[in-house]
Amino acid sequence: MIQPQKNSKEKKGRNFLYPKKPAGKLYNYRKWVSYVLLLFLFAAPHLKMGGEQMVLINFIERKFVFFGLIFTPQDFYLFALAMLVVLIFIVCFTVVLGRLWCGWVCPQTIFMEMVFRRIEYWIEGDANQQKKLDAQPWTREKVLKKGFKHSIFVFISFLIANTFLAYLIGSQQLYKIITEPINQHVSGFLSIWLFTAVFYFVFAYVREVVCTVICPYGRLQGVLLDNQSLIVAYDENRGEPRGKLQKAVIDSSKGDCVDCGLCVQVCPTGIDIRKGTQLECVNCTACIDSCNEVMLKIHKPENLIGFYSQDFIAERKPFKLGIKAYGYTAVLFVVILIFSSLVYKRTEVQTTVLRASGTTYQARPDGTISNLYNAELINKTNKDINFVFRSDNPDDKIEFIQKTGMLPKEGTVSITFFLIKNPKDLKSYKTDVKFEVNSNNRIVSSAETTFFSQPQ
Ligand code: SF4
Ligand code: SF4
Repeated sequence: MIQPQKNSKEKKGRNFLYPKKPAGKLYNYRKWVSYVLLLFLFAAPHLKMGGEQMVLINFIERKFVFFGLIFTPQDFYLFALAMLVVLIFIVCFTVVLGRLWCGWVCPQTIFMEMVFRRIEYWIEGDANQQKKLDAQPWTREKVLKKGFKHSIFVFISFLIANTFLAYLIGSQQLYKIITEPINQHVSGFLSIWLFTAVFYFVFAYVREVVCTVICPYGRLQGVLLDNQSLIVAYDENRGEPRGKLQKAVIDSSKGDCVDCGLCVQVCPTGIDIRKGTQLECVNCTACIDSCNEVMLKIHKPENLIGFYSQDFIAERKPFKLGIKAYGYTAVLFVVILIFSSLVYKRTEVQTTVLRASGTTYQARPDGTISNLYNAELINKTNKDINFVFRSDNPDDKIEFIQKTGMLPKEGTVSITFFLIKNPKDLKSYKTDVKFEVNSNNRIVSSAETTFFSQPQ
């Protein structure tokens, strides 16, 4: 049997791949998906929603913003839960549609296949021309082509690094690093170039190794997929026994695969999909396009390689969702429900009231009883809030030692005060009390604690 042409070359222990330029219907769809995602990725940190950066993932200050919703350090559990929702969603998605995320949506693949690889095709040509260029000595043409390509790679890596930092530290802070003198932002300046170097190294050299070796999600595939998952697969019942097409010879003993090797040549991870499901397959669908092109030429039906379940390939069973898919969807539904109810119950202001340490109660000369408290108010919005702090019992009095009526945006204020109660309202040694934070005639937060008095 003729072996398909390899799309790789040994380079000091590394099988450096030269995938053939893909083309076809699915590749065109992927292009459009990547344009939309790239536009969003580069624009999101520079767009505002509700006065805040549209998406901010600031781990240093533990501030996260998603589409105008601000999560402060106190909301970290919500952020963790949101990440869990995303994770379970990807798991559900994988169980049903395999690694489609990797081939179509993952930023690594989008940048690699839709940006860097296309620049490479543009400057150095298709796979064979690239191999030839790499094999030839350092002529003027090679120096110019390689120099030009790598300059563009560095420039795009620089743009990605800036965008990445805009998500991490905020676009305003990034703007300051870029526009103000370097000595005022040495660490920021170094970070930009460090990330530029990392992205350049990843996209110029590491490439598909990120997907096939480094990324843990790829390793999880074996656990997540089952026989009902839809994956990019070769229909071996139809394709085998494979064999070269002989002109003017109709050989009915042969399958539809003409062993042209195009599906292997076009694969960005260098695998032969005809050997069955492999962890390295990122479901990019490039092999489907190239095989369909061949099928069209030899007048055979499309989708010798297509989206199939293992059950379909083996027993021609039609696609249906498996038990795993239902299980993960149920878990996803429950987690989304918990997350949405917590977001709904989340208040703009978080209030904590604690009795001042080392104190119990004070009997006042006028017969009333007081307790001393410390309150902390946290503003989770990006607007200043004028507020009134009071007890929910109109008969109670509050005597402030340290008072404020303004809560700065994303800020915190502390209040120290006596709560004064009439003894007739106290039925036991310990009474539950509740405080309200009122802004514009609306209760924006409340807190409960206890009030001590003399034993009754
Ligand atoms: S086998 Fe096909 S779908 Fe999988 S990575 Fe290779 S080209 Fe993409
Ligand atoms: S592209 Fe299709 S016909 Fe050609 S080797 Fe691959 S499976 Fe066979």
